[in-house]
Amino acid sequence: MNFVSTRGGCRPFSFSEAVSEGLAPDGGLFVPETLPDISALLPEWEKLPYPKLCAEFMKIFAVDIPAKDIDAIAEMAYKRFDTPEIAPLTRLDKDLHLLELYHGPTLAFKDFALQFLGELYEYLLSRSGRKINVLGATSGDTGGAAINGLLGKGNANIFILYPEGRISPLQERQMTCTGAKNVFPIAIRGTFDDAQAIVKELFSDLDFKSAWRLSAVNSINLARILAQCVYYVWAYLRLDKDSRAKVQFIVPTGNFGNVLAGWLVSKMGVGGLSFKVATNRNDILYRLFKTGVYEVSKVCPSHAPSMDIQVSSNFERFIYLSQCGKDAAKVREVMAGFKKSGKWVFDNFAADGFSASRADDELIEKLIVSAYGKYSVVIDPHTACAFADLSFDGTKVVVSTAHPAKFPDLIKKLLGFEAKADSLERLKDKQIVKTVMDADKVLVAAMIEKCGLV
Ligand SMILES: *Cc1c(COP(=O)(O)O)cnc(C)c1O
Repeated sequence: MNFVSTRGGCRPFSFSEAVSEGLAPDGGLFVPETLPDISALLPEWEKLPYPKLCAEFMKIFAVDIPAKDIDAIAEMAYKRFDTPEIAPLTRLDKDLHLLELYHGPTLAFKDFALQFLGELYEYLLSRSGRKINVLGATSGDTGGAAINGLLGKGNANIFILYPEGRISPLQERQMTCTGAKNVFPIAIRGTFDDAQAIVKELFSDLDFKSAWRLSAVNSINLARILAQCVYYVWAYLRLDKDSRAKVQFIVPTGNFGNVLAGWLVSKMGVGGLSFKVATNRNDILYRLFKTGVYEVSKVCPSHAPSMDIQVSSNFERFIYLSQCGKDAAKVREVMAGFKKSGKWVFDNFAADGFSASRADDELIEKLIVSAYGKYSVVIDPHTACAFADLSFDGTKVVVSTAHPAKFPDLIKKLLGFEAKADSLERLKDKQIVKTVMDADKVLVAAMIEKCGLV
């Protein structure tokens, strides 16, 4: 199995190459050259525990890695989850299920991909004898999940920049209380954009980048998407056979990575699946699926900060595979047009299995309260967005992307008690280790020169 760029400007890459590369050299995103049909494998897969299922799924794509090594990688990746089911599917009501993707080390669904990616990086690096320094900026969840994916790895150090005082205290603890020697959290006196700008500048300094073998915590890495496909297959196989005929996954969406993974599974011979893209007030994707017009507007902070995104990086994979019929020239035209004017009007837009809903902060609050009242379940503000439209006539699976304990103040305000999680409680006794500095790329570069792996 090979992987090609959505922009068609480079040769096909192997799995290992595409994972190590992250972004394709022509600026596009890697996608599988062809999508396999997994339908005949499903009866066999029904019996597998989660890590085994993950390994079997990944073997179809990672054909250049020995099968036993993939088994070991998948086994390690899901060791730090707090339940043996890894992704429990809980029934809330007759046709309504909750897929709990918050049992990983940072209590958000990003652990599914980043724990796997961390193990895979370590494996690929030890195979090639290379060492890397990972550099990234975060406004919240991704940094913590990336750090926890690479915790204690001998061949990668990780430097994560974040805006001092502007992320939640719990998120900061998840990055700064790890005790790991290869982790360097850097609190920047400035905004997230300042942190991001420094990271971009250091990556564009090609001498510095190659001297320190800088690697990005890539939100667009192909392996992340594939690792996320697994829990859709898993959830589907947990449903009884009658419920499988007509299933809608409702997915809180920001960068479109999570829901895209599910949609890919529906293109791999698993019939009867549809997807609802649930946005918060940053509703570019909601507007697209309603109107066929893709148009940016300003990012507004919301109760669901990990979805405060306008331009979804994974969207390019969808337009390549769906709207543009794998025509890379057409993708280049759309991306260039969109970059220029911040808008693209698709003629003959096809929703292709997607529908959409949106929830502003007021609705998020109402939905947290009503979900607790109706189903006795405490949901976080991201998951709440997925409760905005449960009108689908068939089996509904709400994808729960974060543990409510990550948002103690909002839950307290709405429900009158505090949501708790053991792993977060344990962090409260640990010491914060971070470096605070001005938003100056020279200072960050000096830190990498002092602490980076050589
Ligand atoms: C990242 C994140 C999302 C958005 O997922 P995408 O793959 O970017 O669409 C939703 N909820 C939580 C809790 C997240 O951390």
